[in-house]
Amino acid sequence: IPENFRQMVEAHELLRKFYHHLLMNTDEGQHALEYLTNRGFSKESIEKFQIGYALPSWEFASNLLQKRGFALEQMEKAGLVIKRERDGTYFDRFRNRIMFPISDHQGNTIAFSGRALEDEEPKYLNSPETPIFNKSKILYNFHLARPIIRKHQNVVLFEGFADVIAADRAGVENGVATMGTSLTSEHISTLKKNAQTVTVCYDADKAGIEAAQRAALMLDQAGCTVKVAQMPEGLDPDDYIRKYGEEKFKADVIGSSLTLMAFKLLYYRRGKNLQNEGDRLQYIEEVLIEISRLDKVVEKDFYIRQLANEFSLSLDALKQQVNQRGSSTP
Ligand code: ATP
Ligand code: MN
Ligand code: MN
Ligand code: MN
Repeated sequence: IPENFRQMVEAHELLRKFYHHLLMNTDEGQHALEYLTNRGFSKESIEKFQIGYALPSWEFASNLLQKRGFALEQMEKAGLVIKRERDGTYFDRFRNRIMFPISDHQGNTIAFSGRALEDEEPKYLNSPETPIFNKSKILYNFHLARPIIRKHQNVVLFEGFADVIAADRAGVENGVATMGTSLTSEHISTLKKNAQTVTVCYDADKAGIEAAQRAALMLDQAGCTVKVAQMPEGLDPDDYIRKYGEEKFKADVIGSSLTLMAFKLLYYRRGKNLQNEGDRLQYIEEVLIEISRLDKVVEKDFYIRQLANEFSLSLDALKQQVNQRGSSTP
């Protein structure tokens, strides 16, 4: 590891400890701690995830880093400070934010995500891409979750930090999240290397459902067994846990995750009125296309029967149509 990379990591480790101290032990951090407590973050979670608070100061980190002998020019490359055009001085990137340290897969702190306390924009401010932080590779909480992921051969994929942390509190300790980017092939290869099954547990809003569909297809393509968790419309996992509790989350969300096929069928139903003939025919067509793409004959048979039952269709007609499709699609 090059010396300058090591220094960048050391600077992150130093700030992580200070931010955490400011949150836990100072008057200035009191309102941030209250914010977290009101959101249901436990003391244990705050410790485990080393959550912190950055003061509303332009020079807290800059001064501290300089005093400890870090070159600010290098700290700018590490994404911690920003250079003023006008006079070449530096100011802190993260100010008045709840700080979530981000670790690499070995456990070194290599970046931060700072959440605004109020409705300020952006809601989450992330470290930029730096020599030590590659967003397309890093999964939040992978370092802590890895042993559990490997043991259970299952990893739960969330959208946000708050979701990972809330799930962890509920006892779902095999959760990870991407860093505000969509899922990349590097993420997928890490997931696949460590677990047989990936449970996608994204927000139940329009963006989340579409992202879940995309992620599920990519993971399936890569050869993972994919499950997709369902929640009531409008909630994210963190909201759900606060509203319905930890046990219900484990049983009714994680434990009742759908297979990829079941999720697709539900996805095609969205926005359709199956009492309406046109919608119904379109749905049947879409489902038949999905069935024809299945590899296993037994699975094909299972879903054909299900479709035949639901819409009182002739089993033979459906089989014939699936077989036609099967032979004509590439
Ligand atoms: P919270 O519960 O604190 O409001 P969230 O995780 O529910 O946060 P979402 O809006 O669902 O927030 O976004 C999911 C994830 O996307 C966030 O955890 C964060 O990683 C990323 N993200 C959201 N907004 C931004 C942003 N403005 N800039 C960068 N990343 C963002
Ligand atoms: Mn979201
Ligand atoms: Mn969310
Ligand atoms: Mn949320």
